[in-house]
Amino acid sequence: MKPVIALVGRPNVGKSTLFNRLTRSRDALVADLPGLTRDRHYGEGRLGERPFLVIDTGGFEPVAKEGIMHEMAKQTKQAVAEADVVIFIVDGRQGMTPHDKTITDFLRKSGRQVMLVVNKAEGMKYTSVTADFYELGMGDPYVISAAHGDGVADLVEEALDIAFAQRPSEEEEPEVAGKHIKLAIVGRPNVGKSTLINTLLGEERVIAFDMPGTTRDSIEIPFERDGRHYTLIDTAGIRRRGKVFEAIEKFSVVKTLQSISEANVVLLLLDAQQDISEQDAHIAGFILESGRALVVGVNKWDGLDRDRREAIKMDIERKLNFLSFAKFHFVSALQASGIGPMMKSVNAAYAAAMANLSTPKLTRALIEAVEHQQPRRKGSIRPKMRYAHQGGMNPPVVVIHGNALEGIDANYKRFLEKHFRETFSLVGTPLRIELRSGK
Ligand code: GDP
Ligand code: GDP
Repeated sequence: MKPVIALVGRPNVGKSTLFNRLTRSRDALVADLPGLTRDRHYGEGRLGERPFLVIDTGGFEPVAKEGIMHEMAKQTKQAVAEADVVIFIVDGRQGMTPHDKTITDFLRKSGRQVMLVVNKAEGMKYTSVTADFYELGMGDPYVISAAHGDGVADLVEEALDIAFAQRPSEEEEPEVAGKHIKLAIVGRPNVGKSTLINTLLGEERVIAFDMPGTTRDSIEIPFERDGRHYTLIDTAGIRRRGKVFEAIEKFSVVKTLQSISEANVVLLLLDAQQDISEQDAHIAGFILESGRALVVGVNKWDGLDRDRREAIKMDIERKLNFLSFAKFHFVSALQASGIGPMMKSVNAAYAAAMANLSTPKLTRALIEAVEHQQPRRKGSIRPKMRYAHQGGMNPPVVVIHGNALEGIDANYKRFLEKHFRETFSLVGTPLRIELRSGK
């Protein structure tokens, strides 16, 4: 499915000039066929390897009740409804007109993702050619010259990024992913992983998987709990620790990494009867780097006195503070207590990791964040953030587009992350922010 870009704007702003530029290769073919060119509103374009469709909406008179203008308005509405992205063109030489405002109102109601583009800007300064149009409330306009081609490639690239971000991802197979949460249970030896697996699966299941000869590095064990389907990413080291075999394998970093990378959600087990060790912290670090969703189970909570409970909590706070995005549960795998709520957090972490964050909502959240606190100037330049789209899942990646974004510091990035996290209630998953500067 090719992304669809609609060109909207009042007559004479340069829509057909831009349309022709975007679809140039085909234009040559049809130019010699009189009659066909006039009616041509749909064209195919290509930016590098990325094909797209362009709709030129012709003149636009949203208030017309009848006649040819009414007909055109209807077609424009249709085009807008079908588009992934609307490029709203205004005329930088003529400046703002009341008509531009009417179109803005219409586009806003359409709920589409709109890029405001000032055309005919060749040889003009950004600030003077755009000054008029801030009144439209659509943020920093893009600036192009459709006739000369300035800024057009950048514009299309951003349009395609937005379009792509709004479509459901084709690789993710959301149906399957939605049914089975891939869960890895990790932790250093003796924290209680096998015991927890026994509790989750039931003894028989584990013993069945302990058959000699089933020594593949990693095996997927499906199980069901409270109506949810999970796939346990089990490494050989864990599996053979059942009743049949004694511990025959040492802790394996590689196997831990493998199971983390194969999982959607990682359940990190800690042993409440011992202090947090370097090995615990290392495993936690791997999980953080992997970007996987995380729930922490502080196991062996049974039979601890009050002092010990306080001590381990403080120890966790001191040594694992970088896991603050995750939920902690104090459980007993042996007595099967606290397991239900912990699995609910697994489900929630999965949902957060797989969240679909629409471009309009992300962009709105971005604007809110900037209104709350602007990034600092770097020298005389203030970084300008224009819009945000989702660049990935598990972990969610928020890609922010704009100018001079290399001036944004780590503190501000953390501020943005926190804002997105709160806005979209993303608990239990890391969140990544990527900055992409235009020219
Ligand atoms: P539309 O049909 O309303 O989309 O507008 P057109 O593409 O027909 O352009 C209207 C007029 O603006 C034509 O005379 C174009 O040559 C002119 N025009 C279009 N783009 C540019 C531009 O980037 N710079 C300048 N100076 N003129 C332009
Ligand atoms: P693994 O090496 O991480 O798979 O750990 P195991 O599941 O083999 O557990 C190691 C030891 O801790 C065993 O003796 C378990 O009985 C014990 N254990 C596991 N979970 C709990 C728990 O919740 N409470 C207590 N008191 N002991 C536990």
